[in-house]
Amino acid sequence: MITTHTNADFDGLASLICAGKLYPSAIKCLSGSVCSNVKAFLERYPQGILKSHSVKLETIERLILVDTREKHRIGKFGQIADKIPLHIYDHHPSQQDDLSGEKEEIREEGATITILLQDLRKKDISITKEEATLFALGIYEDTGSLLFPTTRHSDIDCLSWLLKHGADLSIVSEYLEHRLTKPHLLLLSDLLKSSKLHKIRGIDVVFASVTTKEYIEDLASVVHQLMDIERYKVLFCFIKTKECIHIIARSRAEEIGVGSILSDFGGGGHPQAGSATVKNGDLTRIKKIVLANLKIGERNLSFLIEKRLPKWMREIISISSRLCTETRVYLVGGFVRDLILNRENLDLDLVVTGDGIEFAKKVSSFLPNSCITSHHRFGTAQITLENKGKIDIAGARKEAYTKPGALPEVSPASLKSDLMRRDFTINTLAVSINHQDFGRLINFYGGTTDIQNRIVRILHPKSFLDDPTRIFRAVRFSSRFSFALDAETEKRARDITKEGLKHISYERLRNELILILSDEYPENALNRLADLGALGFIWGGLRLQKNIFSKIHEELFHIALFLPQIETWILWFLALISKLNKDETTEVVKRLRFCSRVRKKVLEAKSSSSEILKFLQRKKVKNSTVYKRLINLSDETLIFILAKTKSLLVKKRIHLFFATLRKEKVYLTGDDLISMGLKPGPKFRAVLNELLCQHLDGRIKTKEDELRFIQKLLRYANG
Ligand code: ATP
Repeated sequence: MITTHTNADFDGLASLICAGKLYPSAIKCLSGSVCSNVKAFLERYPQGILKSHSVKLETIERLILVDTREKHRIGKFGQIADKIPLHIYDHHPSQQDDLSGEKEEIREEGATITILLQDLRKKDISITKEEATLFALGIYEDTGSLLFPTTRHSDIDCLSWLLKHGADLSIVSEYLEHRLTKPHLLLLSDLLKSSKLHKIRGIDVVFASVTTKEYIEDLASVVHQLMDIERYKVLFCFIKTKECIHIIARSRAEEIGVGSILSDFGGGGHPQAGSATVKNGDLTRIKKIVLANLKIGERNLSFLIEKRLPKWMREIISISSRLCTETRVYLVGGFVRDLILNRENLDLDLVVTGDGIEFAKKVSSFLPNSCITSHHRFGTAQITLENKGKIDIAGARKEAYTKPGALPEVSPASLKSDLMRRDFTINTLAVSINHQDFGRLINFYGGTTDIQNRIVRILHPKSFLDDPTRIFRAVRFSSRFSFALDAETEKRARDITKEGLKHISYERLRNELILILSDEYPENALNRLADLGALGFIWGGLRLQKNIFSKIHEELFHIALFLPQIETWILWFLALISKLNKDETTEVVKRLRFCSRVRKKVLEAKSSSSEILKFLQRKKVKNSTVYKRLINLSDETLIFILAKTKSLLVKKRIHLFFATLRKEKVYLTGDDLISMGLKPGPKFRAVLNELLCQHLDGRIKTKEDELRFIQKLLRYANG
């Protein structure tokens, strides 16, 4: 089965037909609707393509995807795309959730049809004039008539070949010309009226927006016309309908790529053309975000500092700025990354050219109730603030690794080399907070481009060898921000995991692991680590148990009401090592040097789970017995047992324990017992415990019942 993306354009259709020639026994099928000009073309030149509703998914043996590799853009075929053999032909830039195929022809040509035509020509397969015309339409449309900067020599070469084979340019121009309907014309006029000009890095960027009652088909062609009529350099159209806001953008300016800007809204595309659909969004806010993202390229982030940071942080920045008369001070690292991504980050990271510790002392003296910890060996200091926020301050320094994996040697050097020793390009950005150039973005290593293109990339090929924990960090950032690992970075990570570990600090590995396990859905990153072969750093041959993560999510959802004070990351750690036996677990917790509290919880869960399970499955057990058995176990162990078992009886008993048994209290106090004539001593606790058990088993309910019970006990003891 061959298919292409929904809302198929000419490149999609051309690629579909061309793939049909490469795979003659395959069936051609649309995955959904087509653009209006493609529809008009198909009405006149039917191509024998099926519609997806007439296809049974179970009958498909292999899927050939053209002009897309996004699961959510291929209609119902998305349900099977990662389950059956897949061949992919696509020219779009890669994204995090891209499907992968057993055969992939993915190159950034101007059009996907160019990729397929190269194969077709190699195999010397002939084409008709009609096919040549359709294939030419694909190239013309996707390269903006060869004017988009993404146009490659190969596109032009293929086009020339198509002309030789009879492509009819009058038909091409007829269908490329987007015919506008009346609603299109009205929309066009409204968009024109609403146009607002913004200057971004000296380039005219136009925002146009309208609200319409109904969805208008083929909005893209209206935007295309608007771009042509006004010769705009960059255009963003915001079209608000009842359900959502459509953003369609075009750019002729090489400096401004629109696809990556829209990927923040779950959309995407090319530098020249992009789109996104936002459900339930607020138009004004969306425009503001787009504008802010455009401005990031402006290289001065003072507006982001002003708009995105809380007041207390701005004050600290302003104090630091005032203090740096002789030194220069920069915001750096993950803090700048998160400022750009608009994610909260309460850990300010500063680099000072000069003595970091001295500078930290000066800053701290202006911050009431702050305390400072210095690391003289590294020339760094950390200020902890009254509100638990943190400021990390380092003197600009250069490090040479004496031997791989060891702690770095420190010697003062420039900001550039300080940034060079960092892990990924996205963490190498700096923002000056010196009064001379406040807000200036310093981007030595292409960090902003990688943030915009959502890529995690190491700075040099030996990065993972210097510090293998960076593999864990790479996976954490990639999964937390939905960024892709750059291909070379991924290859280097695999090289290291294949070689096996020689130098690693297990303490740092543990810290990174805890950060991964502290995410809401840690299984994404753990699966990625498994895929890279990096779980072996924790324990050789460690494999993930398939369903345990979803079961834990389910149990956490059910017990959310009882709100036990749990450390969720420990639960995920238990899930991670659920295939290890007791001895292996003991070794792992030792190796990772967990503190005794964590060690105790992990070992307890491992050693007592099966025994407790057996106990809870017994038919007749009194509530008080359940209570006594469970009260000393950690909540993590209990939730882990819940996730491991299918037994409804066990689940019911643990839920009962969380919801009622462990909340049960007795009315009488120690003082009451004394006034009743009992002598204080070890028996006191036993008596109170017995009272509690009587409550749990429903034998006594009120304070009067308790009094009667004690009196009986006393009579029995005395008599
Ligand atoms: P998070 O939001 O997880 O705190 P972060 O990027 O701020 O992200 P930190 O662990 O606080 O991460 O590190 C601060 C900065 O120090 C990073 O942005 C990075 O530049 C640098 N860094 C941290 N760990 C490493 C490492 N293993 N190798 C190189 N640089 C690192």
